[in-house]
Amino acid sequence: MDFYFPDSQDQINPMFDFITEERSPYHVRQRDDRYPHEVHSKPPYTGILVSKAIIDGVGGAGKYTVAQRHRLYRLGVRGFFRLDDAPGVRLRTMGDCGAFSYAAQPTPPYSADEVLDFYEGCGFDAGIAIDHVIFGYAPEADETGECDPAWVERHELNFRLAEEFLNRCRTRQSHIQPVGVAHGWSPASYAESVRRLQDLGYKRIAMGGMVPLKTMQIITCLEAVADVRDAETELHLLGVTRTEQVSAFAGYGVTSFDSTAPFRQAFKDDKDNYYTRTSNYAALRVPQVDGNTRLQAMIRAGRIDQAEARGCERAALDAVRALDRGECSVLDALAALEAYDILQGRKPLPEIYRRTLTDRPWKNCNCKVCRAAGVEVMIFRGTERNKRRGFHNLFVFNQRLQGHLAASHDRTTTAI
Ligand SMILES: [Zn+2]
Repeated sequence: MDFYFPDSQDQINPMFDFITEERSPYHVRQRDDRYPHEVHSKPPYTGILVSKAIIDGVGGAGKYTVAQRHRLYRLGVRGFFRLDDAPGVRLRTMGDCGAFSYAAQPTPPYSADEVLDFYEGCGFDAGIAIDHVIFGYAPEADETGECDPAWVERHELNFRLAEEFLNRCRTRQSHIQPVGVAHGWSPASYAESVRRLQDLGYKRIAMGGMVPLKTMQIITCLEAVADVRDAETELHLLGVTRTEQVSAFAGYGVTSFDSTAPFRQAFKDDKDNYYTRTSNYAALRVPQVDGNTRLQAMIRAGRIDQAEARGCERAALDAVRALDRGECSVLDALAALEAYDILQGRKPLPEIYRRTLTDRPWKNCNCKVCRAAGVEVMIFRGTERNKRRGFHNLFVFNQRLQGHLAASHDRTTTAI
């Protein structure tokens, strides 16, 4: 199972100083900052997924400066991301249009040739055909005949776009592996999509619009698709959020997927911020008084005292670092974290923090991030620590994925 990590220009600065929290004045982002595949001893994914919308800034999705965009076009995707410097493996590349960013428009803002120019110009291995998202999941609509006409219209538009994209690939004798996108609102409509994309000639098909679906709904769709899928057709799941289920999808012809979940959970989830092979832990929230807009607003409004906030922040950081050195008890560290939470008007989390402080999972991780950052990786504070935790999660997720697949492979071979 191949795991693609969607790029949104998330990098860390390896020279960041956790004590002073300052960057070197000689720091140059493009030269010095590192992607996950440059940080770990082995890349924590099989490849990267790069979206044209994120590069072009369509629909507010932009993450690239003008200079970065030009640099990507000049160096190509392999040079820009320094993929060939990654040790041990050849990382793969897939381009897509970023259909969610233009979903509200009546038609996609790109022509097939514009998209192929982008894919070929940047030197991607595979490119996803232009598509238009169908919003809605209503399997019963097939029975009642009450399908939203807008869904049916987009379904047909997607086939026209897919046909045009494939025709242009053939005419241009493109080296890009074309990937069709199946959309639908029910198992039957997804199966219909896959059948028609295969008829057009697609050998690799991405399942689109499944992000909001529950795991059982995804499996029901994959079961329907299994009835029409040619043996050689490979499926890619776009935007998987429930990554723990990924190995269950392997039996349905899914050979690859992409997900930002392991990375984003590091700083978006309420408590599952730090992965281990068997569990997740809450990171310890010690926000910066000076860099936190919520805290600054409370200080300006006179609701909390700046000096007191700084004192609590300092005490919490000191306590967590002292605990890491074995010089502070769990109870004392917990008290310092709670005092800062209470000052900010946040609900303290004694039980989930106690588990993190007692187990100290960062001490048992051998990934390069944890070895270099130590306890700092566990502190929910500022982008350098939070992204490092995300990079660590990618490393563990990749291990979990390999472990799951090895386990399911063992079961299969034992059964045989
Ligand atoms: Zn780690």
